[in-house]
Amino acid sequence: MLYRLAATLLLAAPAFAQTPVTEAARAYREAHEAAILAETMDFLRLPNVAANRDDILANARHIIGLMEARGIDGRILEAGDASPAVYGELNVPGATRTLMLYTHYDGQPVEPENWTSDPFDPVVRAGRLEDGAAILDDPLAGDIDPDWRIYARSASDDKSPFIAMLRAIDALRAAGLGPNVNIRFFLEGEEEAGSPHLRALLEAHRDLLEADLWLIADGPIDTRGDPRVLLGVRGVTSMQLTVHGASRVLHSGHYGNVAPNPAARLALLIASMRDETGRVLIDGFYDDALPISNVARSYLEAGAFDEASLLAEPGIARTEWGPGALYGEAVMVPALNVLGLDAGATGPATRNAIPDRATAAIGFRVVPGMSLDWLRARVRAHVENQGYVVLDRVPTDEERLQHPMIAELHWSPAGYEAASTEAGHPLIGHLVSIVDTASERPVRVVPLLGGSLPLAPISEVTGTPFAIVPIVNPDNSQHAPNENLRIGHLWDGIELYAAILADDWEGD
Ligand SMILES: [Zn+2]
Repeated sequence: MLYRLAATLLLAAPAFAQTPVTEAARAYREAHEAAILAETMDFLRLPNVAANRDDILANARHIIGLMEARGIDGRILEAGDASPAVYGELNVPGATRTLMLYTHYDGQPVEPENWTSDPFDPVVRAGRLEDGAAILDDPLAGDIDPDWRIYARSASDDKSPFIAMLRAIDALRAAGLGPNVNIRFFLEGEEEAGSPHLRALLEAHRDLLEADLWLIADGPIDTRGDPRVLLGVRGVTSMQLTVHGASRVLHSGHYGNVAPNPAARLALLIASMRDETGRVLIDGFYDDALPISNVARSYLEAGAFDEASLLAEPGIARTEWGPGALYGEAVMVPALNVLGLDAGATGPATRNAIPDRATAAIGFRVVPGMSLDWLRARVRAHVENQGYVVLDRVPTDEERLQHPMIAELHWSPAGYEAASTEAGHPLIGHLVSIVDTASERPVRVVPLLGGSLPLAPISEVTGTPFAIVPIVNPDNSQHAPNENLRIGHLWDGIELYAAILADDWEGD
């Protein structure tokens, strides 16, 4: 029921208010719908899994062609064995501000057998696949319904936002309304592979990347159908923590109260790290965590997130943090998440035995200000302070006889630092006002997303503030089979980016 309700609401795209700029962008789009879709589908026809270098290069060349057709100076940026990034430059006489427009052109790997149509042969359906909408034979021949959808890998994540940006420039030029800022493009070719070389690429080409603000087009708009501006992401890392007991599983009658019980000790160790509201008890854990600013709090209170459905849909009575804090507040503080527990056996497999070990997988989400290295050191010190000798391997027999409490700790090599732009930054206020003026629906400003993306290199290397301004439909199945784009969202995206690029960004 809730799902159905949500699905209906998703169809409501942001209605863009009629300003001279959005009106011009709309008129331009109405006159060029078939050409815009053809351009989008041509781009989607190029396979773009990051691991296939030839495919990635073909995409990069295609992007440069799209840029050059508009007089944008495009070139490939390389760094070591990174998938190339594509850079573009458009200088506007008289403009004093520069916007860096970021998208990524690689896509998630595909399993074609799980797709209803070929992921790299885009089709247009007369609506949602889930609703049984059929493939249209010749969708570009006549009137195009905004509820139609393009099905292909990267239809939403993240190729169509680039087309929306280009067409926004076309529309402004056609109407003589802009663009009125200098524009740079940075298109990444291995974002879906975790951006392993983003830092190297940014460092190698730092001189090209000077801008006042990075605008990142990735991810969907708000599930309520409202436009949104996202200002940051939490960082993430995880560890495997094992408490060791005796050298083998022992009879619980002969050894209960004699052998250390690793399962019970692990439970105590976890309880020493985190209370029932999620507050982390590790000494110094919050020292560097940036507090929630007043501006950020006002965005949360204005409905940054669809609080009610985020809790009701998965059956959550109240947020753990607080308890009862806003969803948005709970994801703006660091979190210690117990991801999994493993010790002994339960159910029919239960034995009257004391396990020899117990392991917890524990994840951390960190907020801006915190560093992962520092966090790892604090966590290790905490385990030691609980009386454990901390090893990075299974203890030897001698070590077991020597130390009554032994823990083994392994950090995942993967992880991202947190990154955000201060909600009170004047350019953010300016951006929000542009989106607000262009839209009839409320702008949802999200100071920090609970999830993690590799954005830290952008702010760390360039020192430039960033904001994520998405355009695509939330039910786009990104990263999954049957990824799709609702065409009306592309139309609205052109209007939104036109409004952003028509502004001279001087006033605030
Ligand atoms: Zn993406």
